[in-house]
Amino acid sequence: MAAKADFTEAEWKTMQKGVTGAGTLVSISDSDFTDSFGEASALGKYLAEQHERSDSVLIRDLAHVHGTGFGLTASREKVETETLDALRSAVATLQEKTPDELAADAAQRGIVTRDMVTGKVESWLADAVCLATGGYGNVFFLATYAKGCNATAIWRAYKKGAAFGNPCYTQIHPTCIPVTGDHQSKLTLMSESLRNDGRIWVPKKKGDTRPPGQIPESERDYYLERKYPSFGNLAPRDISSRAAKQACDAGQGVGPGGLGVYLDFADAIKRLGENAVREKYGNLFDMYERITDENPYKVPMRIFPASHYTMGGLWVDYNLMSTIPGLHVLGEANFSDHGANRLGASALMQGLADGYFVIPYTIGHYLASTQQEKVATDHPEFKKAEAAVSERIGRLLGIKGKRTVDSFHKELGHIMWEHCGMARNKKGLEAALQKIPALREAFWKDVTVLGENESLNVDDFRKSARSALRLYFELSSRLGAPERGSPG
Ligand SMILES: Cc1cc2nc3c(=O)[nH]c(=O)nc-3n(C[C@H](O)[C@H](O)[C@H](O)COP(=O)(O)OP(=O)(O)OC[C@H]3O[C@@H](n4cnc5c(N)ncnc54)[C@H](O)[C@@H]3O)c2cc1C
Repeated sequence: MAAKADFTEAEWKTMQKGVTGAGTLVSISDSDFTDSFGEASALGKYLAEQHERSDSVLIRDLAHVHGTGFGLTASREKVETETLDALRSAVATLQEKTPDELAADAAQRGIVTRDMVTGKVESWLADAVCLATGGYGNVFFLATYAKGCNATAIWRAYKKGAAFGNPCYTQIHPTCIPVTGDHQSKLTLMSESLRNDGRIWVPKKKGDTRPPGQIPESERDYYLERKYPSFGNLAPRDISSRAAKQACDAGQGVGPGGLGVYLDFADAIKRLGENAVREKYGNLFDMYERITDENPYKVPMRIFPASHYTMGGLWVDYNLMSTIPGLHVLGEANFSDHGANRLGASALMQGLADGYFVIPYTIGHYLASTQQEKVATDHPEFKKAEAAVSERIGRLLGIKGKRTVDSFHKELGHIMWEHCGMARNKKGLEAALQKIPALREAFWKDVTVLGENESLNVDDFRKSARSALRLYFELSSRLGAPERGSPG
């Protein structure tokens, strides 16, 4: 392991300039978009943390740095040129003086897995890694995602240094079946296609508890048709979700807790006939009836927005490579394509584009143009990662507290939905940033993970990792979510 004493003063200054220059460049790269002071202070905080806590002596020493190495008035071009020069030179120095550290730190050369049945922790060597582990929308606890989809893999990559992009952008889908009570563990999506023929409305009068059939036309607010006459009920997802929330916040919501709006097919049935509607949407109507015990051919469906897709994810370049060389990220797990605006676009398209059209070509380019150091799974970095996994599992099993993993996840989801959901502001985000660390602390004191390491208790392990989703808060607040937060 190298340390400061292994380098000349000039080499050391250049390496530190590479570190601070990279952060400075991010903070000034797009003055219209980036909160320069916020980014600079985040960099300062990050370096202070690395100086205190990094496992690597070299990183601890490098992070002990004051100032940016650039004057206050340095232009973006100057920072960019000098930073890139410093980084290139730093890589050459590290290659020469501490190739082991560079090889382990510089490229993703494999993964460490835990066998979900036997608990065995194992290292897998690779020339490159592709991560396609989906989005982080289950951070809201109630979401349309399958329960098995979690953010553990991208969270680990982020902790290992992969940058995250657009974490504050979540798509909240407008047509989900509303929450029915505390017992629920997920939400069901009704298809978007229903908005082709269904009309969305709420009673004009606040707190109107009359059955929908008894509310005359003149006392209904078809709010999407009223507010957006050209889009009507097909308004984009973010607009439609936000409008539903506004109606419910104003006391016009329907169903239990007032958290629902009607999606009414009465006109479509009158116009097309019940059989035509059944032909188009029969499976969805059946599913709705099974879940709610209400017949949508006779009474309007009730819908409410829910977390459905995350536009943010690990940052990747056009070759789908993250900021860790060799680590490629595909599908919903990355931040590409949809960026901050996945209002009605197709995730399916992203899956196909990334998996079929992009990665088969770009990974070949990476492999062909990269000189791979020879490493094996007995490399100290693999051993260190395996030991860290085993230690964390042992710690989780050893807590033997009183609360289930789900109860923590549910509480986290409540905080997220309340303060970081469809509506966000500075006060709410700050409240969340107070609540999350307290919840995390409680988790590490009072969680119970049932079973032994060698038994099938994976669900608890997978879920427990989610409590680590402080990432969402850390990054969304850094990226200025109060101003730019979007429900779409
Ligand atoms: C109900 C519903 C309906 C949708 N409808 C549409 C639609 O009509 N059109 C559209 O374009 N999009 C739709 N979407 C979105 C789209 O399905 C997803 O964005 C897409 O499936 C994401 O694909 P993916 O391969 O990136 O990730 P996923 O399909 O989420 O797959 C990720 C996989 O990785 C696994 N995984 C996660 N972490 C780990 C780990 N640490 N170790 C090992 N495995 C792990 C997960 O279990 C999962 O199997 C819908 C989504 C939902 C939930």
